[in-house]
Amino acid sequence: MHNYQIYINGQWRDSASGNSFDSLNPYTGESWASIPRCNAADVEAAVDAANTAFESEAWRSLTATARGKMVKRFGQVLLDNAEKLAAIEVRDNGKLYSEVLNQCRYMTEWFEYFGGLADKVEGTVPPIDKPKVLNYTRYEPLGVCACITPWNSPLLLLVWKLAPALAAGNTVVIKPSEYTSASTLELAKLSELAGFPPGVINVVTGYSSEVGEPLVSHKKVRKIAFTGGEEGGRQVNISAASDFKKVTLELGGKSANIVFDDADLDQAVDGAISGIFAASGQTCIAGSRLLLQDTIHDEFLERLVDMSSIAKLGDPMSEDTQIAPIANELQYKKILKYIDIAKTEGAKCVLGGGSATVEGNHEGLFVLPTIFSDVDNSMRIAQEEVFGPVLSVIRFKDEDEAVSIANDIDYGLAAGVWTKSLNRAVNVSERLQAGTVWVNTYRSTSYTSPFGGYKSSGLGRENGQQAIKEYLQVKSIWLHTGESTKNPYARR
Ligand code: NAD
Repeated sequence: MHNYQIYINGQWRDSASGNSFDSLNPYTGESWASIPRCNAADVEAAVDAANTAFESEAWRSLTATARGKMVKRFGQVLLDNAEKLAAIEVRDNGKLYSEVLNQCRYMTEWFEYFGGLADKVEGTVPPIDKPKVLNYTRYEPLGVCACITPWNSPLLLLVWKLAPALAAGNTVVIKPSEYTSASTLELAKLSELAGFPPGVINVVTGYSSEVGEPLVSHKKVRKIAFTGGEEGGRQVNISAASDFKKVTLELGGKSANIVFDDADLDQAVDGAISGIFAASGQTCIAGSRLLLQDTIHDEFLERLVDMSSIAKLGDPMSEDTQIAPIANELQYKKILKYIDIAKTEGAKCVLGGGSATVEGNHEGLFVLPTIFSDVDNSMRIAQEEVFGPVLSVIRFKDEDEAVSIANDIDYGLAAGVWTKSLNRAVNVSERLQAGTVWVNTYRSTSYTSPFGGYKSSGLGRENGQQAIKEYLQVKSIWLHTGESTKNPYARR
């Protein structure tokens, strides 16, 4: 059993109440770590430390170049420790080690990219329509930023926030998911090697009502970067609005993966599988609605079922495992509930449709790769995010119908289009209401390309050059270079 502590003002400590809770390994069912159960007193201490650090000479007086170098150094330290971080994350959320290791190695690029941007965010000198005036603008950091993360990719999604927030000169209070706090606390430990002054990075752990809500409503927090579900996002947005805090919200999805009859069907079957069964479907960008043109519907479905039925469920640390367990019991039960809902609604279960056990393992929270055909887009199984390995297959006739079904939903995070026609690829992509559209590929993201949702899938964007601006505010400075004004009542 590993006893973790929280990180406030460069110091490791227990929660103010002294309480803790256990973190469970979803493959073995074992409690493997004890995590501090924080409350509003810990949030107060962490925000206070972050606010003091924000105003400190040690942080404020760093040039943008020096700050950028520190951010890059952090990325290098994380890369050096990628294997260790990945193993800890897998113990907490049960995701495939191979995927998590790739993410942990890739994280360094966010620090390189945003560290490099730190001294390239330039203000302007607007040509002012008045004589004897010099006006210039500069981008300034916001202050204390709260970074709130979910359990499915805790470190990567934290890094999407942390790298631009720090590069912009802010300080942060991080609240990881109550299911997966350990890897974030390990990351905080590694931040010490990069040389950040105390209080620049702080981590509090615990439940949303006891830690998340006090953090979001704290007066000294100026920005909230939240990744999580729609309901949590709504509450965060409402709370932030009352204090005019800035927010970025990366929320859920029910993305349409659309296969036209002129597509390379082998590629498209791969893309459909990667869209829904990678990470056991526990990704916000899951292509959980597969739209098939009626001319290829039956053939495609048969191939998809054949390939998916041989997916290997097993130990997330094994290289040959393809489907890992579900990350926690609440999510496991939710997925099974949605499978029942789909059956009740009249969808036809053509693969899976329940829980699974793996030889030699009795505790793992496994769900079979599940495919429902004959789904109508108005069904709950088509409209609500399951966040598990459950695919809804919907039939369409032509381009117009495909676009209309794809857009007929509150979410708008991502979409996939499979076609060999360039015209169709461009036309359909432009008509889809989604923040990301992949053509003849699926599930690609990069630090260089903006990511975020339309409609109920979120607000603001992470990644790409403009992401750093989500952590900055612009100031306009006016210098009068002429003689003093004669009439103080006249407009200047
Ligand atoms: P969640 O909303 O339950 O929790 C996310 C985080 O927010 C946790 O740390 C939680 O404690 C905290 N939280 C929840 N409600 C809060 C509140 N009112 N105030 C402050 N903090 C609060 O989500 P989850 O179950 O951890 O993650 C799964 C969800 O995340 C899915 O809906 C998924 O689609 C979404 N997600 C989105 C993206 C994206 O980039 N768009 C990426 C990954 C996951």
